[in-house]
Amino acid sequence: MNVERENQVAIERFVQYIQIKTVQPKPDYQSAFKFLKNYAQELDLEYTLVTTGEDRQAAVLTWPSSSDAKSILLLSHIDVVPVFEEYWTVSPFSGEIRDGKIYGRGAQDMKCVGIQYLEAIRCLKRVQYEPKRTIHCLFVPDEEIGGAEGMKKFVQLDQFKAMNVGFALDEGLANETDVYQVYYGNRGAFGVDFVLKGNTGHGSRLIQNTAGEKAQFIINEMLDYRTREQQRFEQSQTGDHPLQLGNITTINLTKMSGGVQINVVPDQYRLFFDCRIRPGGEGEFEEFVTDLIRRTRKENDQEVQVEYLTTRAISRVTDINQPSWWLTSMKHTFEELNCKTNWTIFPANTDGRFLRYFGCPVIGFSPMINTPVLLHDHDEYLSVEVFLYGIHIYTKLIERLTKE
Ligand SMILES: [Zn+2]
Repeated sequence: MNVERENQVAIERFVQYIQIKTVQPKPDYQSAFKFLKNYAQELDLEYTLVTTGEDRQAAVLTWPSSSDAKSILLLSHIDVVPVFEEYWTVSPFSGEIRDGKIYGRGAQDMKCVGIQYLEAIRCLKRVQYEPKRTIHCLFVPDEEIGGAEGMKKFVQLDQFKAMNVGFALDEGLANETDVYQVYYGNRGAFGVDFVLKGNTGHGSRLIQNTAGEKAQFIINEMLDYRTREQQRFEQSQTGDHPLQLGNITTINLTKMSGGVQINVVPDQYRLFFDCRIRPGGEGEFEEFVTDLIRRTRKENDQEVQVEYLTTRAISRVTDINQPSWWLTSMKHTFEELNCKTNWTIFPANTDGRFLRYFGCPVIGFSPMINTPVLLHDHDEYLSVEVFLYGIHIYTKLIERLTKE
């Protein structure tokens, strides 16, 4: 197969993958597994289906090496987020190509990367490359809903331990400029659910110590914290070390509920804050919340309940100051290809955090420059050019990572 035909096939496979409706909340994983199994046959890779959770499986496509050196793991998730079809100019699961852009849900997040890994392997096989490390392409379910029955379970299985993974690549984000974003950590997610109780009565009276006053106090304090972080971020932009979203803590009030009737002072309000904590900031933030609860309770004890509803995903950071084979391989590849890079912290969570939890180094990287960030957005697309160049990058990268 020549390069031109290979490019055509890569685009074809990408379009086919987009056309499989692996959309939450009811992803068609079975069709995706059929597609991946055929792909594995086409590329002469071993194919294993691993049960991760209730009614959930992950596919592993393996290019084995005879060496017992640590393997590399190329991670991608199969599922995509729902669409609001009325806002799309093309059908979101058509994979339509217009003006050199491949449209579809998952075009950036992250069906592109799953295909790019496999097409890079195709290129390496064409030139009869022989990897000195085993290469696993892992396709997991349910990343978009937290990975509880996907990657979170997978890393606990004996099958995972047997894979002997020494380094993993995971997803990153697109960038509008010509600089590739390389993520070596993620912020922790911290959901704070305040249940605020107070005195109740008729809406015409001047009732003291109400749930509303407590809500006011909590909202003010939480949003003040947010403002302080925002100022820190803005002020840094003119200095030598401009902060990025991954370096600050963000707080958003995402849910408010309460009230029974318009003339009744309710006995409780409930507030939910979605907080994303900068690496290293967990202790300080937790102290702030604990102190806030203490101060809110001061007036009338035990009337503030606080629950941490979401699992607290502590941020993990992969050490990029310590020399290592995978770091050298990555840096050399970027140098060789003249790729400008920005090494930073991923602002949200990806499945890679479960690997970092077990001490496995993970780098989040989606080779998408000169591309607007359209993940989870309408008209998600990736240009053919960027997609194909991404395969080239992965080809070099995988080769370097498995050369010795
Ligand atoms: Zn993703």
